[in-house]
Order: sequence, then structure tokens, then C-alpha cells
Amino acid sequence: QSTCSAPVTRLRDGNFMPRFGFGTWLGFDENQVPIPVTDESVQLAVEMAIDAGYRHIDTASIYHIEDQVGRAVNKKIQEGVVRREELFITTKLWNDAHRREAVVPALRESLQRLNLTYVDLYLIHYPIATETKAFKPYADVDYLQPWPGMVEAHQLKLTKSIGICNYNKTQLQRLWDSHEVKPAVLQIETNLNLQQAELREYCHDNDIAVIGYTPFGSLFPNKLRPGAPPPRVDHPMLVAMAQKYNKTVPQIVLRFNYELGVTPIPKTVTKSRIYENLNIFDFTLDDFDRRDLKNFDTGFRVVDVKFFSDSPYYPF
Ligand code: NDP
Repeated sequence: QSTCSAPVTRLRDGNFMPRFGFGTWLGFDENQVPIPVTDESVQLAVEMAIDAGYRHIDTASIYHIEDQVGRAVNKKIQEGVVRREELFITTKLWNDAHRREAVVPALRESLQRLNLTYVDLYLIHYPIATETKAFKPYADVDYLQPWPGMVEAHQLKLTKSIGICNYNKTQLQRLWDSHEVKPAVLQIETNLNLQQAELREYCHDNDIAVIGYTPFGSLFPNKLRPGAPPPRVDHPMLVAMAQKYNKTVPQIVLRFNYELGVTPIPKTVTKSRIYENLNIFDFTLDDFDRRDLKNFDTGFRVVDVKFFSDSPYYPF
């Protein structure tokens, strides 16, 4: 049974995007190695998420999970729970397909795995090009090169909107200044420790929507990076705030992300959390609490992809 769903926003290209989404990446282990896909838990989670009212689903070819996302989406469409046009599905171009002519074939392969005829949003995952799916060796391909391929994918109606992830301000500005078709979306890490004021302001001024990944930052033990600053989920100020609004700490954190103007895309494979996370559209943080939460902004990044730091285009 659908409980609630998020407001939508109009993107600069005229399409609409739900202001809250569902993440599908299993994440890194403590050694920064991607956790392998060993079961169907993401498919089940996406099915539960659609039942719960999520309409925006975030995936990527490098998550090796597009097939599960596709099965869940198609099942829910067949069951009549949702129509395709009510869903907003994002996938991403991996670093091994940055040459202009490689972009459209890479998207066609994603669509095949998803068993869909189009996605709503196609994003360049990183401003870094590699020769293979592995994280090395780098390819001598500038991060502007995939963009005309993205534009072509849009013209072919394989994707309704196009955008980028993880470009820093200089890289985003260079893309902006050099191409007529502009990105509709920038997807970046945003959470209490990394509030991204500068990039949010640039995007706001240029009508680029911001999607915020890893919205919980280092709140939970399983995402904790060495040296991560507070807060944890049991931080007394957050616990008191949650009590005040009759909400949970994760809900406070997601609401704060949302009120920054960001579209959060939390991931969980746990049914109760799927419902908990979406249930943030019936309250507003007051100015004092928002100011207190702003003070956690230390610039600490969870997904720093340090293994890319010797690339000339490493963005962080
Ligand atoms: P999140 O901040 O969404 O954290 C996910 C973790 O939080 C999981 O371990 C989950 O556990 C746990 N969790 C979720 N909700 C709750 C809750 N209410 N209470 C307690 N624990 C909870 O991190 P992600 O890095 O997954 O980011 C979200 C999504 O953003 C990704 O899944 C992916 O789609 C996207 N992303 C994009 C990137 C990019 O470069 N463009 C990079 C990183 C992420 P469990 O699942 O066990 O319930």
C-alpha cells in the first residue's frame, strides 16, 4: 500500500523529477572494495520501495544491479502498482565508455539489462575515464568528451534528461561554458558533514537540480570511515531533535538534506527503513535546528574514491 510520495520538481529541460529517491548501491567494504552482489535483496528492496511510494530510483551500470532494478520495476508495472511514466529511473555511464562514440552503446546495454526502452536520467558517473571496467588504467580522454554522446542519447530518446555526477565546480563550469545543451542535474555527495554550499549555489543560480547521494554520511557504523567527524546516530542533539519532532534521527537528517534543496536518494534493503526514510514530508525543521545541523559541515567526504586520486581529473 502506498503511504506517501515526494513532491516533484521541474528540471531545466522541462521534465519532472521526484524530490526523493531510492539508492541501489551495495557500497564499499571497510577496505574500499565494492561489496559483491550475491543475492536478490536489491530487487526485493526496489519492489518494496515502489509499493511504499518511491517513484525515483537511482542505479548505475557499475553497481552490477541493473538487472535486479529492471525486474523489480517491470514486475510492479505488470502488477499495475505503477505506470512506467510515473517512475523516474536513473542510471549512469561508467568510466570505460567516455569516448563520444561509446556513450550511446553503453546506455543501450544498460537499457537491455534494465529491460526498459528509456531511462529518465542518464548521468556521467565520474569525470574520469578508464580503459576497462577496472579502476585502472586511465584513458587519455578529457571529461568533456562524453557530453556530445550524452546529448545524442537524449536526441535518440534513450533518456529523457542528462546530467553529471562528481564534477567539481571548475569541471562543471567548463562543461557549462563549452556546450549548448546544459546538464539538467548534478549528483554529488551531500550530508551533515558535507553540505556543499558552493556547488549548491552554483547549481541554484544556473537551474541545475542537485541530487544528493550518501545522505546519511557517517551516521551509521557500517558507513563509518576512519577519522569521520560527528555526528553518529546516537548524538544527543540529534536524538533530542528527533524527539521534538516525533521523528527518528535518520528522518531528521533526510529532511535537512531535502530542505537544503537537495534530492536525497537514501539506500536501504530493510523494509521498515524503506518506509521510515520516505516519511519526511509532514514536518519542517525550524531555523534554530537548521542552524545547529549546519554546524556539522566539516567538509568530510565518505565516498572519496581515493583510488582515483592520481588521475589528472580527480575532482575532490
Ligand atoms: P546512504 O547514506 O544511503 O546509506 C546507506 C546505508 O544506511 C545502508 O547501510 C543502510 O542499511 C543504512 N540505512 C538506510 N536507512 C537507514 C535507517 N533509516 N536507519 C538505519 N540505517 C539505515 O549511502 P549510499 O552510499 O548507499 O548512498 C545512497 C545512494 O546514492 C546509493 O545507493 C547510490 O544509488 C547513490 N550513490 C551515488 C554515487 C555517485 O557517485 N553518483 C556514489 C555513492 C552513492 P541497510 O541497507 O542494511 O538497511
